[in-house]
Amino acid sequence: MGKIISIFNQKGGVGKTTTNINLCSYLASMGKRVLTVDIDPQGNTTSGLGIEKRKLENSIYDVIMGLSADKVIINTNINNLDIIPSNVELAGAEIELTSKIDRERRLKKAFEDIKDNYDYIIIDCPPSLGLLTLNALTASNSVLIPIQCEFYALEGVSQLMSTIQLVKKSLNKDLYIQGVIMSMFDGRTNLSIEVVEEVKKYFKGKVYTTIIPRNIKLAEAPSYGMPIMLYDKNSKGAEAYKRLAEEFLEYDEGDDKGEH
Ligand code: ADP
Ligand code: MG
Repeated sequence: MGKIISIFNQKGGVGKTTTNINLCSYLASMGKRVLTVDIDPQGNTTSGLGIEKRKLENSIYDVIMGLSADKVIINTNINNLDIIPSNVELAGAEIELTSKIDRERRLKKAFEDIKDNYDYIIIDCPPSLGLLTLNALTASNSVLIPIQCEFYALEGVSQLMSTIQLVKKSLNKDLYIQGVIMSMFDGRTNLSIEVVEEVKKYFKGKVYTTIIPRNIKLAEAPSYGMPIMLYDKNSKGAEAYKRLAEEFLEYDEGDDKGEH
């Protein structure tokens, strides 16, 4: 049965989408059947995987409004990697959802019929704590949290943790933290090193050993519609995300239900 994971941090620009695109593509290249779900109206995962946002016939918007997910899934040009794409049409969904029944459980319901077709369904969350994010957290078994190596790294983390607690209490009691990913590490500064230590202290044992460096190739790849493994597989960024995917699998396939 497929495992559903949200890439979640309500802060923007921390590396959610970059992590989503590259983790999903490496997992797929390692033989896992992966579906990535873009629920950010900006659609950066969609365009970053080479899919034309403006030309979509159906999108995640239609799935949330009740269309069967298998009518919206598209194959990417990477073996084993499918996507439910998103575009700006999704921006109105937060408001439309408010008046719907079971407004937090619509994604969960939509995945019921398709989750056995995949090993992993990985959701790229928007930078907000609205109904779209609540839908993702309610549908998920676990969350992956990217944190940027910067001075204010832990700012907003207590809000993030209380959102997870709230969802556990009322919508999804089994939700847990799969792991924390340190992103955009700059080895030339002491600050990055201190930030990693601080985050490790906070998230005891949940931070992946693999740290994602700041790497220009990772920032360039999306404008070519490619994950890093196709754009420049020998770059430092590619090596790091490949190792992260290996580490992810090592823990996820261990005995401890993936808890890092
Ligand atoms: P989020 O989805 O959390 O908003 P993104 O993954 O879109 O964050 O990253 C924000 C910006 O930083 C993007 O322009 C992205 O290309 C760039 N970026 C992300 N990770 C890295 C990295 N490791 N090195 C260099 N640039 C990065
Ligand atoms: Mg994003």
